[in-house]
Amino acid sequence: MRASRWRHEKGAVMSKGLIAILFDIDGTLITSGGAGTRAWALAFDEVYGTKLDISQLSDLGMTDGEVGSKGLESMLGHKPSNGELEKMLERHLHYLAKTIEESEGYRVLEGAEDLLISLIIKGHMLGLVSGNSEKGAHIKLKRANLNRFFSFGGFGSDSVDRNELTEVAISRAEIAFGGRIVPEQLLCVGDTARDVGAAHAAGIKCVGVASSKFSKQDLKDAGADYVIGSLKEGLPI
Ligand SMILES: [Mg+2]
Repeated sequence: MRASRWRHEKGAVMSKGLIAILFDIDGTLITSGGAGTRAWALAFDEVYGTKLDISQLSDLGMTDGEVGSKGLESMLGHKPSNGELEKMLERHLHYLAKTIEESEGYRVLEGAEDLLISLIIKGHMLGLVSGNSEKGAHIKLKRANLNRFFSFGGFGSDSVDRNELTEVAISRAEIAFGGRIVPEQLLCVGDTARDVGAAHAAGIKCVGVASSKFSKQDLKDAGADYVIGSLKEGLPI
């Protein structure tokens, strides 16, 4: 809805250059080494007595709400109630703090911290766009002390729909900025086709980073406006 409003008014807005950059988390800034999947298994084990392997049911870039719903549906045989989903999301978060802390495969992806530092120095505002719940996002970034770079975000706890949570992130960017921001003043950075789709749905260009499961060609095919191999290459800005 916002994007269409912008499109109508775009001609009247003077470009002031790039203001804010929105980063995905998993596969873009960090890899948790499977900590998210293990947290889901522990949560399902506690509530239903089965260590459900959520990786068999979910795709990369899905929101926590989508992942929890799919898991519950496979477990219960029906669409979960809001209460059933809320409980699993809460239990998942509870275990995530532990699985992130203990994950041997956790690492910050190549070039991430140096890039964030350089973007802050250049005066850009940095935000998060993540299917993780807001608390889950902060848990995942805390271990590497990366939360300090981000002043706003849109999260899986804002909407189960990645397109919608991108709109939420943009609204919060405007609050943090203290004024209106048009799509040309924003840039998304992500590692999956879903990141590209959500950015484009909001009218924002997307840098695809081939640092996880998607190759450069996959991201090009998904419509990414720019493609880089890792954040070490820097952003095309
Ligand atoms: Mg990702």
